[in-house]
Amino acid sequence: MKTTLSVIKADIGSIGGHVAPSQRAQRAVEDYIRDHTGDLLLDRYIAHTGDDIAILMSHTRGVADPSIHQLAWEAFRVAAEEARSEGLYGAGQDLLKDAFSGNVRGLGPAVAEMEFEERRSEAFLLFAADKTDPGAYNLPLYLAFADPMNTPGLILSPRMTKGFRFVIMDVAATAEDRLLELDAPEDLYLIAALLRDPERYVVESVWSRAGGEQTVAVATSRLHNIAGRYTGKDDPVMLVRVQMDFPAAGEILAPYAIGHFVGGGMRGSHQMPLMPVALNTGISYFDGPPIVSCAGFSLHQGRLTEAVDDFSQPFWNTVRDRVAAKAMEMRRQGFVGAAMLPMSELEYTGIAEILAALQKRFHARPPAAGTLPRAA
Ligand code: MG
Repeated sequence: MKTTLSVIKADIGSIGGHVAPSQRAQRAVEDYIRDHTGDLLLDRYIAHTGDDIAILMSHTRGVADPSIHQLAWEAFRVAAEEARSEGLYGAGQDLLKDAFSGNVRGLGPAVAEMEFEERRSEAFLLFAADKTDPGAYNLPLYLAFADPMNTPGLILSPRMTKGFRFVIMDVAATAEDRLLELDAPEDLYLIAALLRDPERYVVESVWSRAGGEQTVAVATSRLHNIAGRYTGKDDPVMLVRVQMDFPAAGEILAPYAIGHFVGGGMRGSHQMPLMPVALNTGISYFDGPPIVSCAGFSLHQGRLTEAVDDFSQPFWNTVRDRVAAKAMEMRRQGFVGAAMLPMSELEYTGIAEILAALQKRFHARPPAAGTLPRAA
């Protein structure tokens, strides 16, 4: 039996700004899924990270299944009504289109999916990030799947020494999906050349070259590509199968101790360090910092165990303290230079209009008094 994991997430409104969904809104999602699941799902898990609600579903219908996508879409629509009735901020903000057309891709919600033959012991991690974009996972995935300094399994496990295939998406392409497959370790420098620009090139999936199995699926949607303007940050979810042919859970988690700078934070327009947080954590400082949560599961015949909260372990308290210090240090330089994202990201915000208007007011320096006017 092949099992499919689908995680679909959306921001459908938040209490007191972009902080966290209301309990009523999250319950509306849970109630809708419970009442309309029928025989579609084998199991499900629903949680929030920052202001985003994620629905994890296990089933046997394969990826991009219209019924599974519609179930999540309708649950978010019903919950968005609940959010409106409570006056939540940004109610329904990630539901960018009215009509469902078979797949939530291109409608606003983020989706990551994988279909696989269950291993005897199927362990996987669900990551959910808020106040950042899908490129936030570039560095952690590069380190976990291509760098033996992070992942000793790359030299200790004979299967893992065969390396991993990265599928990388150019998220600037809007007319169609543009993908490139590159193999670690042979293509290491090419992979690095792309992943250094996380707003443009994003890891979409990773595959084991030993067994040909998929280990990673990342939600790659860029909301500004869909809406044509800034409507909120993409807040990507990611599924990672771990152990055996794949890195251990700890090798996947280790790179998050860096607290690397990612695009996001206030108005989605800044460079802020990524803070690993416990499940169901909200947002605070400077509409951030960007956060990532991780729920670990085991799966058997489509049934999920309870989630373990991977970033609640005391080790991560020190990381969080360091990330908070990095965040405050970067914020000291306000709007200047590296503190903000480059114009390619800001062009979806109001600053593009302000700069265009100011350009018209620039003028050439008039000739200084007492000098000869320039010849025509
Ligand atoms: Mg969000």
